[in-house]
Amino acid sequence: MATPKNILIAGGGIAGPSCALLLTRKGHKVTIVERAPQLRSTGQQIDVSGIGSEIVKHMGIWQALHDRSTGEEGLKFVGASNNIIASFPVSKDGGPNALVKEIEILRGEMVDVIYQETKDTTNYVFGDYITALSEQATHVTVSFANSPDQDFDMVIAADGLFSQTRGLVFPKSAVEIKNLGGCVALMTIPWEEADGNQSRWYCAPGGRAVFLRPQFKAKKTGAYLGNMTADSRRLVRLPVQEQKEAFAEMFRDLGWETPRIIREMMKADDLYAQELAQAKMGSWVKGRVALLGDAGYCPSPVSGQGTTLAFIGAYILAGCISTHDDYEEALRQYEEQMRPFVEQGQKLLPGVPGIANPQTEWGRWALYTFVWLAGLVNSWGIVGLVTRVVEPLATIFSKELELPKY
Ligand SMILES: Cc1cc2nc3c(=O)[nH]c(=O)nc-3n(C[C@H](O)[C@H](O)[C@H](O)COP(=O)(O)OP(=O)(O)OC[C@H]3O[C@@H](n4cnc5c(N)ncnc54)[C@H](O)[C@@H]3O)c2cc1C
Repeated sequence: MATPKNILIAGGGIAGPSCALLLTRKGHKVTIVERAPQLRSTGQQIDVSGIGSEIVKHMGIWQALHDRSTGEEGLKFVGASNNIIASFPVSKDGGPNALVKEIEILRGEMVDVIYQETKDTTNYVFGDYITALSEQATHVTVSFANSPDQDFDMVIAADGLFSQTRGLVFPKSAVEIKNLGGCVALMTIPWEEADGNQSRWYCAPGGRAVFLRPQFKAKKTGAYLGNMTADSRRLVRLPVQEQKEAFAEMFRDLGWETPRIIREMMKADDLYAQELAQAKMGSWVKGRVALLGDAGYCPSPVSGQGTTLAFIGAYILAGCISTHDDYEEALRQYEEQMRPFVEQGQKLLPGVPGIANPQTEWGRWALYTFVWLAGLVNSWGIVGLVTRVVEPLATIFSKELELPKY
């Protein structure tokens, strides 16, 4: 058991507070600095399954997450007249390859559950961020935008894909933000009877897909507008009103539920546009600083592994810091133990995300034929779920990796 350390975490999303929860339990003193003035409890549905479930059980929050899950009952692929092409019910075994996991929860609910578990043991500082880090022999001196300098034993950067803290420590050349060729706009709209309790996926040529995910209990529906466009990085950096106008323009001719979604999007106050991108780095540690979650190894929303990797990273980093007194050895171990999980989590099925957002009528026909067949096989109960149909192509988290024990 290592001696308690004084640790600073940048970023109060999923990864940072999860790591704080595990570190404070081992006696470390933790401060979280979050740039936003309060908890950013927006975002749409994220899920927990497989190794992620193991970790949230270890953290003691599985039940709280389960209680606050959306209660989604499955996923349907639909055509323009809302005709069902294929239907996949929720996976009761929570398997990693299921399309709809046992715990499907709104990001904000998850952020709040972890915050409630950590707020009394972690020092949260909102509305501030790190502006400089100066490594000394025995500590790091940290400068903030709005507070005096402070010394810490270690610093963890968990401030998301476009981490500013990462840029203070690593040269630009150390990180590749690999654009996957698209972006997605996420927002909440009022629930309607037709939304029921199952998600609906509709895709149209031109690399566009629309996804409706009912939050039945809250009588709201999450709406996703995905677009494979070379313009994605510029789009997600536009002011929110301009993003709304750009997405409305791109989806206006699509039919199905899009007129309703566009109408509601213009009124939505939680639009979040995300680039489909991965963070690729040769190393996530430098001196006394470690990168955690999306800041180090964002697998992209299309991998479905962002939250799982954030939990695994938090668990392994907290475990290594609490086991090794020497910070260099702790961070070396973190990197070594984390690498196989990241390599697996960042693997995408061939053609993803383009295959789910076809550019042509033919591509759309091929996708719908594939899901129709998968749905048929699934309903016969021969194999569990659609991704098992394409095994061994379903490389994402299909190989058994075991969590280290600390
Ligand atoms: C508002 C929001 C909505 C999201 N919605 C979805 C969604 O609907 N679906 C989905 O799959 N993924 C979504 N994500 C991404 C998802 O949360 C992550 O991919 C994943 O959970 C990994 O979490 P993370 O803690 O590494 O990063 P994040 O959850 O992105 O958290 C990073 C945190 O760092 C904070 N931050 C940023 N810069 C600084 C700084 N310089 N100093 C201090 N703090 C900083 C951010 O405000 C944020 O709270 C969303 C992220 C955010 C921030």
